[in-house]
Formats: sequence, C-alpha cells, structure tokens
Amino acid sequence: MPSFDLAAFIRPHLLTLTPYSSARDEYTGHEGIFLDANENPLGSVGLAHAYNRYPDPHQTALKQRLAALKGVLPDQIFLGNGSDEPIDLLIRATCQPGQDAILIVPPTYGMYEVSANINLVTVQKAALTADFQLDADAVLAAMTLQTKIVWLCSPNNPSGNLLSSEAIRRVIEGVDNRALVVVDEAYIDFADTPSWTTELGHYPNLVVLQTLSKAWGLAGLRLGMCFASQELVAVLDKIKPPYNIAAPTQQLALEALNHADRKDALVAEMLRQRAALAEQLQPLSIVETVYPSDANFLLIRFVDADAVFQYLIGRQVIVRDRSRVMRCAGCLRISVGTGPENAQLLAVLTEFSKLPIRR
Ligand SMILES: *Cc1c(COP(=O)(O)O)cnc(C)c1O
Repeated sequence: MPSFDLAAFIRPHLLTLTPYSSARDEYTGHEGIFLDANENPLGSVGLAHAYNRYPDPHQTALKQRLAALKGVLPDQIFLGNGSDEPIDLLIRATCQPGQDAILIVPPTYGMYEVSANINLVTVQKAALTADFQLDADAVLAAMTLQTKIVWLCSPNNPSGNLLSSEAIRRVIEGVDNRALVVVDEAYIDFADTPSWTTELGHYPNLVVLQTLSKAWGLAGLRLGMCFASQELVAVLDKIKPPYNIAAPTQQLALEALNHADRKDALVAEMLRQRAALAEQLQPLSIVETVYPSDANFLLIRFVDADAVFQYLIGRQVIVRDRSRVMRCAGCLRISVGTGPENAQLLAVLTEFSKLPIRR
C-alpha cells in the first residue's frame, strides 16, 4: 500500500489557513480573572447553573474519557454538533466545489448527499445489492479521480443490516489511499461486531463516525464523534466553529459516559423489543418482508405501504416512509419503541390487516 499523503486530499487553501484563535487558546489555565472573552461576569439569566463562560473549544475532558472508552487516542477524536457537523466538515475539508465528488452506496443515510449538494460537490452512486449488501467491485468501479470520500454506513440506515466486514475491507484496500473511506457506525452499539476504530492504525485513510444520539439516548444533546488519523483530526479542528460543542453538552455527555453499563442495559432491552416486534410483524397478512436488523429499527416491506403509512398516521403512529428510496419500494422504516408503544403499533397494524377493503 502506498503511503497516505493526507495533504493531497485537503483543499489547498486550507493547508495554509490561519484558524481563528479563541481567547481560551491564548491562555489555557483555569485560575485567574478572566477579562479576555467579553463574557458576562455576573452569571446567567434565568438559570440555576451558570453558563456565562465559553465552553472548552477542545473538549479536553470529554475526549480523554471517550479515548479510554473507545480505545483510541484523544487526538484521534473530533467531536461535532451531531454527526451532521463532521459529515459537512469532511466534505468541506476535502472536496473542491464544482470539481470533486463523494461516492455513496444507496439506499443510505440522506445527509451525505445533502451535505454534498450544499457544498456543490458531485454525488456518485454504487447501489447496494437487492439484499442490501455492499458490492465492493461496483464501488471501486464507480470511483473516479474526482472521488475524495467513499461513504459507507454499517449498520446501514434505512436497511438496518451490517455491511459485510469482508466487503468493507475490500473497499478500503481497493480504494488504496485514493480517497478517504468513512464508515458511519451510528448504530454500532446495537450490532454484534467490533467497531472499525480498531483498524484506524492500519488504514490512515479510514474515518469512523459514531454518535450519542442512538444507543446512548442523547439525541437532544447533539454529540457526534469522528475517529480518524491525528492529521485529519487536526484539519477538522482547524475549520470547525471554535466553540462547536456547548458547555451543557460536554458536561452531560461526560456524566453519561460514566454509565456505560446503563447504556448496555438500554441496548439489551431494545434488542429484546426488536426481536419481539419482528416476530409479531412477520405473520401479518399486510407484511411482505421484515428485513433482518442490526440496529434499533426495522425496515419492513408491506403489500401496500402507502395505505399502511396513512392508516398509521390517522392513528397517531408515525413511522418513516422509505418507499420512494432506491431498493426500498413498498418499505417503511419503523423505530423500535417501548413495549407499550410496540404493542400499540401492532394493534393498529392488526386492525388495518383485518379491514375488509384495502386500497
Ligand atoms: C441517526 C444517524 C446519525 C446520527 O446523527 P446525529 O447528527 O449524530 O444525531 C448518523 N448517521 C446515521 C446513518 C444515522 O442514522
């Protein structure tokens, strides 16, 4: 494998960019009289806890905790305001607008394409197979000199399955340092497989995304994690908004990370609920296929997805219509709920399946 020259992937003007230097970069001690950031020294309006000081722009404590938990170095972690932020920054760091491209494997998470569109970056596609597996040859064949990022999602949204690790490895090795390969592991905690973070040392062009939004139950905090080489993390740090992670997010995330056992218990309960839901959905006459899931949702092919979707809405059960997405005709994506929520969903679907006339 030729050595990886990250600088060749970074938009040239960013290599020499002088980043914003925040007040907290110029003096990093914790003690003193802070008159350097035009904060309000008197406190915060209307809150018991004071948030009058700017947050740590480097999220030092949080990264240290995450590094220990994930088995990576603190310098291999970039934290974003949700995963949306690293998704956007990775594209902005590497793709020249109007010139470069990313490659996605539909059906997949929508934000890669939206972020590329916002940045005037071409989106190349190499579809997953009919059973939602990764066709490594198709991905490699679709790559061009313009391709800067290959985007994989495993477990995949909306299909729910893990992409085979052999196929992912074939893509990473086949790409052979011609592009970054991002593996989005938003649902990794629900899957019975190791994270690709364990391979960061082998593949300098590998990037792994995770989030606190799913298994950790912290979607409202907005904390996305990006694991990559120290060199790439340094570039993302340079172009991020300086205070991108709010102080309460840093504090609450740190608190949550001290309770990984609680996260494991929530995941175990979700997996029990997922198995029960899949088992009870399959026999319904309106259901064609319940796809196997390694995530906290099920993709389900219905005989008449539009009618089911509308009927559910009428009963205030809201699911995600994926029927107009590539390879997902007739499919709805249903998040696994609590026991009572799943029971209610099943009751409404059973009722619908017994209606005498269905469009
Ligand atoms: C939910 C999800 C995310 C998480 O996004 P956040 O911005 O971190 O909440 C990322 N990738 C995929 C594929 C997802 O489904």
